[in-house]
Amino acid sequence: MSTVLTHVTDELQSIFDRARSVAVLTGAGISAESGVPTFRGGGDSEIWTWRGRPVTELSSAELIATDPQLVWEWFDYRRGMLTSVEPNAGHRALAEWERRFEDFTLVTQNIDDLHRAAGSLNVLELHGNIWRARCLRCASTFEARESPLEENPPRCLACNGPARPDVVLFGELLPDGVFERAEEAAARADLFFVIGTSAVVYPAAGLPITAKRRGARIIEVNPEMTDISFIADVTLLGKAGELLPQFLKERG
Ligand SMILES: [Zn+2]
Repeated sequence: MSTVLTHVTDELQSIFDRARSVAVLTGAGISAESGVPTFRGGGDSEIWTWRGRPVTELSSAELIATDPQLVWEWFDYRRGMLTSVEPNAGHRALAEWERRFEDFTLVTQNIDDLHRAAGSLNVLELHGNIWRARCLRCASTFEARESPLEENPPRCLACNGPARPDVVLFGELLPDGVFERAEEAAARADLFFVIGTSAVVYPAAGLPITAKRRGARIIEVNPEMTDISFIADVTLLGKAGELLPQFLKERG
């Protein structure tokens, strides 16, 4: 069982300060603190259906094959909600951590781009990015930031073919190579943070387990206990936006 804390103690701070290789996995919880609605799991802003359809159907590989325009309408709606959203203190602290450690890897299950908006440079996006499109004809990817969309579906900059959101939909595999890089980072880490995610969704759920097997300390940051708590060395109970900046405080 993990040690449960509600703030960063001196002992935890010294573990952090001495770490050489740090890997972080973030999930919907850190974005929820910025007001990004979650589509699965707890929270008041939970959305399960849109226009009478379950979100699992709207974000599915099946629907992109039959009705990409409807998938884009759904994503256009979600992008519209994100235009007024800002990264929070948790995102900003992680961008600072990246500058502090020689070996630092940020892995996220979020597609909202808030880590980059906060200044993180290297982000392994397991589920893609909502502001990127991928051509259905030639597979090239490109930034597509206009909200609302000017054209549905957006057209590929290279071949003018129709494009889809460059995100991982239900029923699809993770993008090539991204998970492998995340797993290498987990295996190298001596400190592994799981932030704002119950990490129950495989394969991401395997990352803290890989880190643990290779001898890393696991630190969980979440407002409540999760399925990860039983392998975590420390569970920091609370908001990422309040807890993560505490590691950066000067101590006298
Ligand atoms: Zn193309």
